[in-house]
Amino acid sequence: MEISKSQEPKISALACPKCGAPMYPDMKKGGFSCLYCDTFRPFAITDEDFAPAVKFRHQPVKIVDGLLKLGHVAIEVKEALAPPPREERLKRLLPLDRKLLERDAEAFYALRNESFCELNCPFCGNHLTSLLTENLFTCPYCGQKFGHQEQIATGKYDERLVVGRKYNLYSKCLPFKLSKPAAQISAKEIVKGLIQDTSHVNDRLTSAYVPVQLADLRWKMKVSCERGGFWYYQECLDWAWPRSIIYDIFLMDELSPWDYGEITSLKPAYLEGKVQLLASENLGDWQARIPDWILQRTAPQRLRRAFGLEEIQLRWVSRDIRQHNYGLVLLPIYALETTLANGGFLRLMMNGQTGKAALQITTAKEEFTRIIEPSAKPSLSPESTMLSPPIPIRYVKSPFLHERLTLSEALMPR
Ligand SMILES: [Zn+2]
Ligand SMILES: [Zn+2]
Repeated sequence: MEISKSQEPKISALACPKCGAPMYPDMKKGGFSCLYCDTFRPFAITDEDFAPAVKFRHQPVKIVDGLLKLGHVAIEVKEALAPPPREERLKRLLPLDRKLLERDAEAFYALRNESFCELNCPFCGNHLTSLLTENLFTCPYCGQKFGHQEQIATGKYDERLVVGRKYNLYSKCLPFKLSKPAAQISAKEIVKGLIQDTSHVNDRLTSAYVPVQLADLRWKMKVSCERGGFWYYQECLDWAWPRSIIYDIFLMDELSPWDYGEITSLKPAYLEGKVQLLASENLGDWQARIPDWILQRTAPQRLRRAFGLEEIQLRWVSRDIRQHNYGLVLLPIYALETTLANGGFLRLMMNGQTGKAALQITTAKEEFTRIIEPSAKPSLSPESTMLSPPIPIRYVKSPFLHERLTLSEALMPR
């Protein structure tokens, strides 16, 4: 399938009207800034500006007589969680290109579109080309930035670039803070030693906006381990509930924390470079099961880290999800996929805000994941993903009152 080359777009330079220096799009401020003289030019107002802001609805755990009141996780105690169906793993581990093609062929080809416009840079005279998928691009010789005149003026963008239906594309996002060149350097560093030739990393690293629903996820579990069984309570506030499975939901979950203090309107016309815009997917009954699959995978790891336990099995689980109103947000990520010499498959995902990365290597039999923390600890606003430590508990009395214990106090015979 070929995407027809629409009329030659008119290009205009993004130069500061005052001093002539290149202007940089700043998603957080909602406009172009000149770094030299502080001139600011706002983006065009678009429909996205009228979307209601996220309303966070946190409900702190109540303390009664010094006891935790856990009514929210008391109602539906279910037996051990059902694991994901085999189909889930097969689907998840498909190459990204296949997933994109199956989901939306038009967007897939539009994103790959090789058509470009060519011009001589009006600033330095060198020949330059731009892909049609790039809304804003930079002259590699003089650093001057350019954009499509009409898109810059109106904020409109090519809808073929949305993977899925444009109607299902969320209007709020977290701006990318980590630049693509910085992400490329970091990705190369991470995969060095795993793949011989890292020269294609720059081309293959994709940027994407992934849809999630913000919610508070809280759970009470009974687990057994080598030292016996115990109940514990834990919560993750501002948890990102995946609304698409194109990118691995488990790796995605590892990329938290996200800082929601930085939410802005999505303005694709002002994004630099090629960014995949993923619309939310209708996942059927999988949507409601995803939190269980993620808990099943993360709970044993977290208990291991907190208490040094090894043989953990989840016995009983009760969980509560409280969605935040208008909490539909796109999260910025970088991703890389490549096959390995030994036939394995490497997948890398990186948080476009903090640089935290999750690396996964899969073979026919095994799946191995490693987390790479960013070199500098990011400073986050109060509205960020917050994971409480697991708290061993024991039920004391009605209504739903539980006592906080140490692990040794909470342990009971299996
Ligand atoms: Zn200026
Ligand atoms: Zn130039």
